[in-house]
Amino acid sequence: MKTEIKEKLEQLAIKKSIPFCYSCYRQAPTGRCKTCGSDDLMREMPGVGCEWGTDWIIREILSTELTPVNTEEAFEESVRQCYPETVTVAWMEMDTVSVAKEMDPVSWNVAKAEWESQEADEGNIISFDHGSSYYWTSDLEAL
Ligand SMILES: [Zn+2]
Repeated sequence: MKTEIKEKLEQLAIKKSIPFCYSCYRQAPTGRCKTCGSDDLMREMPGVGCEWGTDWIIREILSTELTPVNTEEAFEESVRQCYPETVTVAWMEMDTVSVAKEMDPVSWNVAKAEWESQEADEGNIISFDHGSSYYWTSDLEAL
């Protein structure tokens, strides 16, 4: 699943960039520089820059075309779906999510991290930076 998406992103990165010969400082759309004959080429993304490889282009595409998952919001939403919306404390009816977060932020964060890895295992969200940010798989597929 993840490799498939990575491959597709790679293809997209190649589509959105042009081979570029850095020594002649010119584009080489055929994959071989017309001036020096080299096929050891960088890739240029018009208006962005040129660099070796495609990882930087993928990062650029992700950051310009997608919004990372707001995991806090998404986790809240899933908690709201799983538990009653309010909780009664003595005579007070309180918002379940706010109470949980405020009363035990450590437990909240642990549960949030578990939710993230579960969502990632199920393939709903995907991270390219070891979990510091996630994207919705459906957003990526729409690219
Ligand atoms: Zn060249």
